[in-house]
Amino acid sequence: MLPAWVGWINLLYVPLAFVVSLVLQGTLAAITAAVYARARDLHWTARARRVYPLLALARRLSTMLCVLFGIGALLSVGPASHVGRGVLIPAVVAAILAGSFWPSWRLARRLRAASPPDAATWLRTYAFGVLLRSPYYLALGLACVFPSKLDTSVVIGLVGAAAFVVFISMGGFVRLGRCLGVLVAPPERLATVAASAAATAGVPLRAAWLARVGFANALALPLSRQIVVNAPALALFDDPELAAVCTHELGHLAEGSWASLSRMATVFAVISLSALPPLWGSFGARAALLLIVLVIMILCAWPFVSRKLEHRSDETAHRHQALPGTYARALEKLYEHELMPAEAPGRGSHGHLYDRLKAAGVVPDYPRPAPPPRWLQGGAFALMYLLIGPTAAAIGVAVTLMSHSQSPMLLQLSIGLFGRSGAPFDALAELHLQDHGDVSGAIDLERRAIAVSPASNEYAMKLAYYLALGGQCDESRTVMTGALSRAGEARRKWRVSYLVESYGRAWSARCEGTAASSAPVRSSRRP
Ligand SMILES: [Zn+2]
Repeated sequence: MLPAWVGWINLLYVPLAFVVSLVLQGTLAAITAAVYARARDLHWTARARRVYPLLALARRLSTMLCVLFGIGALLSVGPASHVGRGVLIPAVVAAILAGSFWPSWRLARRLRAASPPDAATWLRTYAFGVLLRSPYYLALGLACVFPSKLDTSVVIGLVGAAAFVVFISMGGFVRLGRCLGVLVAPPERLATVAASAAATAGVPLRAAWLARVGFANALALPLSRQIVVNAPALALFDDPELAAVCTHELGHLAEGSWASLSRMATVFAVISLSALPPLWGSFGARAALLLIVLVIMILCAWPFVSRKLEHRSDETAHRHQALPGTYARALEKLYEHELMPAEAPGRGSHGHLYDRLKAAGVVPDYPRPAPPPRWLQGGAFALMYLLIGPTAAAIGVAVTLMSHSQSPMLLQLSIGLFGRSGAPFDALAELHLQDHGDVSGAIDLERRAIAVSPASNEYAMKLAYYLALGGQCDESRTVMTGALSRAGEARRKWRVSYLVESYGRAWSARCEGTAASSAPVRSSRRP
C-alpha cells in the first residue's frame, strides 16, 4: 500500500536537525566573533558584558532546537513508521550537538587565540559536557520509551535513573570520564599542589584528576572525595592560585552529606519529569501539573542553597590562601579567561564576581560594572526567535500543505514525516480508491488514520463506507453504529449527512444486493 521508504523517511529529521543547528549556530558564532572583535580593546569586564549574552544564547539555542526537533520527531512516529521515537529522538539530539560542534570550535579558537583548542580537545569538551549532563540525557531517553500510562516499567526506569545518579555521584563520573579519555591522571604539578592544599585545609582528598578540555574551571565530586581541574586552568594559574582554586573545591568536599543529597535531589527532580506523560495518562492533568510545580519549586530553591555552599567554599579558600588576595586574583583570572561577566544578569548559583572579590577582602581597581545590558539580552532573545521562528514556521507550513495536498507522493511524504496526523492517511485512502479502485488498500489506510485519531467519527464513517464497499458488512455495521452514536448532535452536519448517505448507498449495493441508485438512503437511516 505504502512504499517502503515511507516507514524510514522520518530519519530525514536527523540530517535536517544537523543542518539547521550548523547554520543557526554558525550565524550566531559569526555575530559573537564580530562583537568580540569590536570589544577586544575594552576592559575585560566590558568585553565579557557584551559577549556573554551571546555565548549564553548559543547554549539556549541548542536546547531550543532539541525541543523543537524533538517534538517534530515525536509527531513523526505514526503507525507507518519503522523508526521509533526511542531511536529517532536521541539521534536528533546527537545531530543538533554535532551541528553546533564546528561553529563553537571555530568561535572558541577566536576567543582563546592565545591557546586555541584543537579539534580533539574540543571533542573531549563536548564529551565532558554530555557526561556532566548525562542524567538529563538519560531522562530524555526514558521519556522516549515510557508508555502512556504508569506501570512497572516506569517505576523500574525511575529507580534505574536514581541508581545512575548515585553511581555518577559516587565515582562513576571519574570512571566514565577516564573511559572516554576526558579525565586523566594529574601531571605532577597538579598532584603536588592538590595534595599540599588538602593537607593545609585538613580535608581528606582521595584523588585529583585532569580534564583535557578546552575551557578553564575546576569541579568537586564531594561524595567520592575527588576533585577535577581542567587543563587550561593549569596554564592560567600560578602555583599559589592553583592551590587556592583547589582549596575552594576541597571546601565542597567538607560539606555535610545533606548538601550532596540536595544536589542529587535537584538532579532527580528534573529526571522525574520524564514520567510526566504516564502520570498524565494515569492520573490526569492535575497530577502532571503538581509534579511540574514541585520540580519548579525545587529548581528555584536550589540557587539559594548553592550560593550558601559556594560562599562557604570561598571562605575556606581565603582562610588557607598563601597570601592575601591570591584566591581573588585566581577568580578574576578565571572570569576574564572564560568571558564571564563580573556582574551577572541574575545571581545564579555562584553569586556575582564583584561580591566574591569584596568578600575576599579585595576591592577591584575598577568600578562595579553593570550587568550585561537588558537590551542586549532582549535583543539576544529576539535574535533567537528570528533564527528559530522562520525555520519552525517553514517546516510547519510545508507539513500542513503536504497533508492537505492531492498528490499521492506528497501525502506519502507527509505520512512519513508527520505520522501522528490522521489527515494524510485519510486523504490517501480516498485517492487510492479513486485512482486504483483498490478497496482493501483504502480500508487499510483508513484504519491507520483511525489508529492515530481514534476520536474522529469522520474517519470511522469512512471506514464503514469502505468496508461496505468491500462487502465486509458485519464490521461495517458495527463501525457505523458506533460512529453514529458517538456523533450525537453532530449528525446534522452536512459532512456527516453526506458520509452517511454515501455509506447507505454502498451498504445497499453490497450488503443488501440492491442497486445503489435505486435505493437512496436518508441520512437518518441505520443499517
Ligand atoms: Zn564551588
